[in-house]
Amino acid sequence: MKKVAILGSTGSIGKSTLDLIERSPDKFEITALTAAVNVDALADAARRTNARLAVIADESRLRDLEDALQGSGCQAAAGADSLVGAATGDSDLVMAAIVGCAGLRPTMAAVEAGKTVALANKEALVTAGDLMTEAAKTSGATLLPVDSEHNAIFQSLAGSRIDQVSRIILTASGGPFRTASAEAMRNATPAQAVAHPNWTMGAKISVDSATLMNKGLELIEAHYLFGLPSERIDILVHPQSVIHSLVEFIDGSVLAQLGSPDMRIPIAYALAWPERMPTPAQRLDLAAIARLDFGEPDLERFPALRLSREALEAGGSAPAALNAANEVAVATFLDGKISFPDISKLVDMALQENESPAPRSIEDVFEIDRKVRTDVTAMIEGRCA
Ligand code: NAD
Ligand code: MG
Repeated sequence: MKKVAILGSTGSIGKSTLDLIERSPDKFEITALTAAVNVDALADAARRTNARLAVIADESRLRDLEDALQGSGCQAAAGADSLVGAATGDSDLVMAAIVGCAGLRPTMAAVEAGKTVALANKEALVTAGDLMTEAAKTSGATLLPVDSEHNAIFQSLAGSRIDQVSRIILTASGGPFRTASAEAMRNATPAQAVAHPNWTMGAKISVDSATLMNKGLELIEAHYLFGLPSERIDILVHPQSVIHSLVEFIDGSVLAQLGSPDMRIPIAYALAWPERMPTPAQRLDLAAIARLDFGEPDLERFPALRLSREALEAGGSAPAALNAANEVAVATFLDGKISFPDISKLVDMALQENESPAPRSIEDVFEIDRKVRTDVTAMIEGRCA
């Protein structure tokens, strides 16, 4: 039995993880589940899976959670320290599936505790990449990529040494605006931006997929996971999302992982690693798909990709600043208060203003995050005034 803690159990990745675990009750045991605010979904999942601990991030909901768990044998807890408790308590694997920099503290705590961490929370690695990879080296933690592209690279590497790799190629669906005109993108609504053609995901990552900031964050994520420099990580637009990413080796061989676009495949790989487990994902029918298309990303219509590469190459505090500006801009766009192109413009402005030194601790990362959020909020208020 593998003991699993799921951070962010009520989200898209969290629910897919629960779905897989509930289909294999003889292989997995849930030790802890966490959520931001949704007491009912958390308590329901805790009861179904006989979880031992359920943590709600919002402390004002603790009483509600206690009530909802009455008689279940599952302990209720709340707040930031309890999230860390869920991340570092008794478990063999921690699924880090909180969205945004909000997941950094518990994810980092799991890494520092030497856990096997299935990493979906890319923002945690983007904002604190050097610190997290150093912490993993020190503690002996294993980072298993859940993001489909990085999971594909991990599978394609199949244990090869990184000096055998000439480059990695991250595929990008291109999102809902792949073929949209600049004019249409200026008028894009939140509903259009979250309507991803291939994947069903949380709102924030869906908007990131529309701006291609998601691919930019994944570029930075790939750098930290696999240790390759920016110039050896390419982006390839592939609208069908069948090839999830590729690795080119020094002899010219290229290996890739393919599958239908269902996050349960990479999640299952991380859960079962180093073995495999069955999933209900649709089998790939290449004859029915008939053709696969590829193209270069358009950096003019999708400046987020260029900004992310610049942040990766600048290093220091730039990736954390990029991420913080993007989180604020995406939330404000989802609120209907700024236009779609404003997201990348705000990120660009925040990067230009950012002068923070490289973070030396996660407290420094939170400081950068706070400062950029304040600056970007002021920029937005200035524009809307
Ligand atoms: P989601 O919005 O559906 O779920 C987020 C989860 O985090 C929820 O359980 C929520 O309760 C929790 N959460 C949010 N804010 C929190 C806070 N302040 N404190 C504690 N918990 C909080 O998001 P998602 O789509 O499941 O994505 C989760 C992560 O996985 C993101 O980093 C995303 O980039 C990454 N990811 C998602 C997908 C996907 O298909 N959904 C694919 C690849 C990577
Ligand atoms: Mg991805």
